[in-house]
Amino acid sequence: MRHIDALKDSVARPLWHDPDIMPEPLAPISSAQECELLIVGGGFTGLWAAMQAKERKPDADIILIEQTFIGDGASGRNGGFLSSTLAHTETNTEYRFADEAERLKELGIQNMREFLDTLDRYNIDACYEKTGEMFVALDPESANRMQAEYQEAISEGEDVVWFDKDAVREQVNSPKFFAGMWERNGQDGVIDPARLCWGLKDVLVNQLGVRIFENTKLLGVKPLGKKAMQATCENGVIRSDKVLLATNAYTSTIGRIRRSVIPVWDYQIATEPLTDEQLDRIAWGKTSRHALADYVNMFHYFRMTKDNRITWGGGGAVRYYFNNGIDNKFMDATARYEQLAKEFFEMFPQLDDVRFSNRWGGIIATSTRFCMVPGVAYDGRLAWSVGYTGHGVGASRFGARIGIELLGYEPTDVIEMQFITRKSLPWAPEPLRWIGVKLTQKALIRADKNGGRRGLWLRFLDMLGLGFTC
Ligand SMILES: Cc1cc2nc3c(=O)[nH]c(=O)nc-3n(C[C@H](O)[C@H](O)[C@H](O)COP(=O)(O)OP(=O)(O)OC[C@H]3O[C@@H](n4cnc5c(N)ncnc54)[C@H](O)[C@@H]3O)c2cc1C
Repeated sequence: MRHIDALKDSVARPLWHDPDIMPEPLAPISSAQECELLIVGGGFTGLWAAMQAKERKPDADIILIEQTFIGDGASGRNGGFLSSTLAHTETNTEYRFADEAERLKELGIQNMREFLDTLDRYNIDACYEKTGEMFVALDPESANRMQAEYQEAISEGEDVVWFDKDAVREQVNSPKFFAGMWERNGQDGVIDPARLCWGLKDVLVNQLGVRIFENTKLLGVKPLGKKAMQATCENGVIRSDKVLLATNAYTSTIGRIRRSVIPVWDYQIATEPLTDEQLDRIAWGKTSRHALADYVNMFHYFRMTKDNRITWGGGGAVRYYFNNGIDNKFMDATARYEQLAKEFFEMFPQLDDVRFSNRWGGIIATSTRFCMVPGVAYDGRLAWSVGYTGHGVGASRFGARIGIELLGYEPTDVIEMQFITRKSLPWAPEPLRWIGVKLTQKALIRADKNGGRRGLWLRFLDMLGLGFTC
């Protein structure tokens, strides 16, 4: 079949993990170490935490450890959609943090400005493109719902553009598109996520003196007396004043983190670079460089890369595996990639000669509030920031800021906000957790087929404050 054949030569590796630019991993820890701040996890949260701790206290002695290599987690595997939202989406923000929505919006804009300033200051080339984000409705009912959202955005002075059926197909041509809503606010856009990880790593090690150890897994962490912490790794012990856990969806040794997030697998495929003639067929990539998502609960996200490939992820291929499954075997998910490829050709039947070069999966840390969950323990000596769900590329820099502020690095009144202090509900134990996620996924698919109308189960979750909103 067409979609299976198109995957035949694809390699099982994130497109972003280009062997030509991937840096050599730094040596693992091999002896006992001491430092002021230990950061565990070499994804965006860990890297941005080291960066911001150094900005606030240049002489801070920092060690960062990563169990495999920098950018091997979600941070080097995501879609690269960079947005200023801190609480997943505007709807989720209004739904859960209505009183603080305005402040969260301002903080998100500030976070994005500082994010991009840092890239400029250190000359980090993360292939950033200011594309905004375009939502596309796939049926008339969704187009009507999206139109209402558009009207509201306009009345609030947002920079949003509406495209009717013909207009949206002139921007990006799919026979499935009924309407488009292009949010052009602020600096939202796309990046190459692994280049960002490796650019941050380079600056931290070579300019700011942060010690990074790769292939170094944290096995456990505990208080050492009343003033210090002791972290045990495979080949050494690290004594530090403070510890930040930036381990996101990976099973944590700290119970409170373990219950606050679940690992949800998300899969992606990427095409080979499209020729000029193929780009003309879809009217995308030359003049319009939109980053897109379809306007449904189980949404696909798709974008162009600098060399005119399309990356395509999300949709019905997203999975939670029983008992917090994070084993690498879940990366090898033929059925998920075939589903993605099939859905790609349904969206762009004109590209029936296109082949896929890469396929990969990654784990998203999903909290019951569908956005970051920070926390602190041991009198401010251990903090964490995890659980950004599907929007962590920008928000993880803010999560890192919160993490270091909770550890006492120039704390501001931001850490007094309910967004930070209010506890997140823990996930139910198994098998309820698995059953609940399965039921919810099915209900979301059903709602998508019914023009977005939420059925009994979703309304029940909404009532409990556990409803997923995009
Ligand atoms: C397929 C996919 C697509 C996504 N698309 C987008 C998108 O387009 N836009 C967006 O905003 N967000 C997206 N996200 C979410 C986003 O990537 C994450 O929210 C973000 O990268 C989280 O960063 P992090 O540093 O907290 O976690 P991670 O990048 O997962 O980093 C955690 C690190 O901790 C390490 N670690 C864990 N345990 C230990 C231990 N015991 N010892 C040492 N190290 C340890 C891990 O190896 C890992 O490298 C996507 C996620 C996935 C998986």
